[in-house]
Amino acid sequence: MCKVIAIANQKGGVAKTTTTVNLGVGLARRGKRVLLIDGDAQGSLTASLGFSEPDTMECTVATILGKIINEEEITPLEGVIRHEEGIRLLPGNIELSGVEATLVNVMSREFILREYVESMRPHFDYILIDCQPSLGMVTINALVAADSVLIPVQAHFLSAKGLEQLIKTIRKIKKQLNPLLTIEGILMTMVNGRTVFSREIIQLLKDGYGNAVGFFESSIPESVKAAECSALGQSIFRHDPKGKVAAAYESLTKEVLAHE
Ligand code: ADP
Ligand code: MG
Repeated sequence: MCKVIAIANQKGGVAKTTTTVNLGVGLARRGKRVLLIDGDAQGSLTASLGFSEPDTMECTVATILGKIINEEEITPLEGVIRHEEGIRLLPGNIELSGVEATLVNVMSREFILREYVESMRPHFDYILIDCQPSLGMVTINALVAADSVLIPVQAHFLSAKGLEQLIKTIRKIKKQLNPLLTIEGILMTMVNGRTVFSREIIQLLKDGYGNAVGFFESSIPESVKAAECSALGQSIFRHDPKGKVAAAYESLTKEVLAHE
């Protein structure tokens, strides 16, 4: 059984990419076969894993989606690369924005990524899709391909309105395109527990959404160690294994595994 989780929030800078890397490596450390898909034209997941020039990569999500649109054959694990921390990656780059534009005129345009993901299920236990900060066609494709959505939310510069819109979109997709889609949970990220402000925001969110969607018990503390990882192409488990962010992502990993 393979579980496909989209990491989504149309707001940028809420730690979607950081969470994709560290949850992915966390799951791999527990013996799971993990594929990460870079669904962002910025290629930040690809770059965060040490492939520093995503735009020069030959086979990416864009290539694969293009092939599916053109009904071309894809060889098994085509374009999938290995990262030394035990995970696999289908990279993404700027070409994805071209595909995003093309998709608008394609038949069954919401189901293109799903076709790829379905073909990958037998090879993996978890597939995590790092979404871009928009609710455009590629993100919709990710939500249609996924079994669940994990929503990182930054405790500081929170836009509750944005979250409302995301949850509305998820409901709509569930109703019209992917009836089995669930919300894996809301994950508070970059939490600075010392400030009353961030605690208040968490409480506000729980009051506002707590009944509609689940919150993870784990939250991710703010730490410069987490921010350093992407430049090193490493997960927090390698960069600062004894630190609080590694402990937090370890605890998130356990929660996700408990949902199995
Ligand atoms: P998104 O993918 O949602 O745009 P990122 O994962 O790229 O967000 O994170 C945004 C920025 O915040 C990055 O510079 C990242 O290194 C930094 N960051 C992520 N998690 C933390 C954390 N726990 N503490 C401090 N900085 C973080
Ligand atoms: Mg990102």
